[in-house]
Amino acid sequence: MQPTRYRIVPSEILAHRFEVDCTVEDPASGGQRFALPTWTPGSYLIREFARHVVAARASAGGRPVAIAKVAKDTWEAAPCDGPLTVTLEVHAFDLSVRAAYLDATRGYFNGTSVFLCPEGRAAAPCTVEIVAPRDPAAARWRVATTLPRAGAAPWGFGMYAARDYDELVDHPVEMADFAHTSFEAGGATHDVVVSGRATFDAPRLARDLARICQWQCDLYGGAPGSPAPFPRYLFQVTAVGDGYGGLEHRASTSLLCSRRDLPAPGVERVTDDYRGFLGLASHEYFHSWNVKRIRPAAFAPYDLAREAYTRQLWAFEGITSYYDDLALLKCGVIDAASYLELLGRTATAVQRTPGRHVQSAADASFDAWIKYYRPDENTPNAGVSYYAKGALVALALDLTLRQGGSSLDALMRELWRRHGETGVGVPEDGIARLASALAGRDLSPFFAAYVEGTDELPLARLLASHGVTLSLRPSRGPKDRGGKPGEGVAPRTALGATFTPELKLQHVFTGGAARAAGLAAGDVLVALDGLKATAERLDAYARDGRPGDRVAVHAFRRDELVETTLELAPAPDDTVWLALDEAATPDAVARRERWLG
Ligand SMILES: [Zn+2]
Repeated sequence: MQPTRYRIVPSEILAHRFEVDCTVEDPASGGQRFALPTWTPGSYLIREFARHVVAARASAGGRPVAIAKVAKDTWEAAPCDGPLTVTLEVHAFDLSVRAAYLDATRGYFNGTSVFLCPEGRAAAPCTVEIVAPRDPAAARWRVATTLPRAGAAPWGFGMYAARDYDELVDHPVEMADFAHTSFEAGGATHDVVVSGRATFDAPRLARDLARICQWQCDLYGGAPGSPAPFPRYLFQVTAVGDGYGGLEHRASTSLLCSRRDLPAPGVERVTDDYRGFLGLASHEYFHSWNVKRIRPAAFAPYDLAREAYTRQLWAFEGITSYYDDLALLKCGVIDAASYLELLGRTATAVQRTPGRHVQSAADASFDAWIKYYRPDENTPNAGVSYYAKGALVALALDLTLRQGGSSLDALMRELWRRHGETGVGVPEDGIARLASALAGRDLSPFFAAYVEGTDELPLARLLASHGVTLSLRPSRGPKDRGGKPGEGVAPRTALGATFTPELKLQHVFTGGAARAAGLAAGDVLVALDGLKATAERLDAYARDGRPGDRVAVHAFRRDELVETTLELAPAPDDTVWLALDEAATPDAVARRERWLG
């Protein structure tokens, strides 16, 4: 098949405009169609990238060709002799890792936002010319991408290539005057580029990431010094004042972080913010195996025109979320206490979600397309995160397998052997069957209860058998994310709602006092027992009130005054913290050593 030729120009930096050509040599005789993806792998929401296309035109042999939209994401050019070029003007001002961005500081794009796929030609090889912007503000820009070079100098503008459309759109491109560092892991060069105004300790960042990456290579390889599944890897980091996000690709990841998340020069300890950044980088790197190469059958291949349904995101995101922090411990970047704090926070997030009784991890996976990325005021009551719940299922599965002498590590290696190295998608029941085979007993009741069902995970029991105690306590307030024993006075009562600093209710929880009093999300508290409502007064009721005490509440719903009586309810034990069990049996300590040591 003739190659599809692409050309992308940051044509108007100040107007955030890319101009993108797609040329086919031999257009379909009845009129060639071109489509832009509606979603991008790793982010399971129909995003309709065509909405950022400002204009489309077509030409052949120097003459204009008629082109019309035939669907929200599809254009059709009139029959003509090739080569036929369709040119899109794409608005690029999405500061996330999922789409495209262009201003005087940097340019970035995922292929799914800018590259049309000619109908019937997804398998054709692709060439892409990345053209340097003419704006003097961009004079020092270089290009960071894992797209294979086909004439471009290293870090240069120019010609790149891909085997097919699927590969073309799986190597995002960063263009900027970025900082750069690199390290070796798994026999592969790993580059880290950082765009944005950030000062950070680059050697330390490289050193810590190298340990994390090598540990993950070794997990899948089964031995120290195992190879990476690619010849080269790229971390594309954008540091901003306040931001968070990551998206995995086959040989790279795009990360958005706050500049305080990067390691500050001269600071030796691992701060909370830096630990969070390392966890994010670790998460996306783990996806190089788990979801990019070990894929659900529904993603092999990706259909980017419509939703790709799978009940397995709890595994592809949840197991990844379990290993992202565990890798930090296992490679020695953080200690066991720090790891147990992170695990306790994950357990707390799930414990504070009444929706865990309503939606299973498998259902949350299937409905990602309409729920996870579109949270609303009722989300905590109606659903559970397949990331957080999935991570806890992974923990429970790991400890269950370990009780029988196997482990989740062994399961991941087997998934890699059967599905990663072969490219065969994982069937919907594949993980359950493999887990049973490794356990040497039928684990289908485990999956029925905790993956397909909403039973509470037996974490306290499983952790106890591995020398770790799980304790529950009431939340100390909005900043208390769990993972630690509570400080100060424990509250006696709880409102059963979260609220903004302006006392606007955000989430009103099933079974809580606010719900029972008829309060709703969006209500603004104005008075408590006839006095102006403040966060301090709410704190005082939580601290000094007793369950059963009645409080007269005035609130505004929209512009209408609501009067009600709220009966204070006991503060729930919704906050989890874990600790090494000093009284653990020698067997439990030995199991803990194998798990966390
Ligand atoms: Zn992920």
